[in-house]
Amino acid sequence: MDGPSGTGKSSVSKRLARHLGAAYLDTGAMYRIATLHVLRRGTDPADADAIAATVADLPWSIGTDPEVEDIRLGGQDVREEIRGAEVTAAVSAVSAVPEVRELLVAAQQRLGLAAHRVVVEGRDIGTAVFPEADVKIFLTASAEARAQRRNAQNIAEGRGDNYDAVLASVRRRDHLDSTRAVSPLRAADDAVVVDTSDMNIDEVTAALTAVVTEQTGAAL
Ligand code: C5P
Repeated sequence: MDGPSGTGKSSVSKRLARHLGAAYLDTGAMYRIATLHVLRRGTDPADADAIAATVADLPWSIGTDPEVEDIRLGGQDVREEIRGAEVTAAVSAVSAVPEVRELLVAAQQRLGLAAHRVVVEGRDIGTAVFPEADVKIFLTASAEARAQRRNAQNIAEGRGDNYDAVLASVRRRDHLDSTRAVSPLRAADDAVVVDTSDMNIDEVTAALTAVVTEQTGAAL
């Protein structure tokens, strides 16, 4: 499951995983852990060589149970911290470093292949991580719809109401993620593209469940 942020990708991926009795892997969280590590070490997020050296010994772990979010750095729970503004501002730069992608893509393939069934969400899953996936979905939505959702989430989680700043951040990350040299954000040629701008989470989940059933014959 690929697509930019704010399309409902995470909520829908977790729901699909539960429906399918599958594991769930949030690859965005992995890039966020690497970014937090870089920031904590005081490495300059603009220095690609220094970033590559810093993440070479990344002491991270991530769970694959869709019911339990387990995200650690150095054994410490970093679920909250990786969603903060500092990490969000630096994650596109860190995830554009080829050595970071090599390391994390290999880990994603290992974790994915260890599972019987798995829903993997990210930006390059259908194009680079699992090009042989049984089902590829690319979720999209207008930048405004995505910023509105992110802002509502921020308000609900006590991070304040700032639609304009959220929209600017959405646009900035879209641009960085889709123009980077290694594995830019794009739909795989054989992905089913779903625009969620005018759909709620139940509608998106129903549409994707139908796609999975149709393409795999999986009894849900
Ligand atoms: O999905 P999330 O917003 O948490 O992803 C954070 C960032 O991680 C993205 O903006 C992108 O820069 C990077 N990412 C990536 N490849 C993935 C998943 C995320 O480059 N497969």
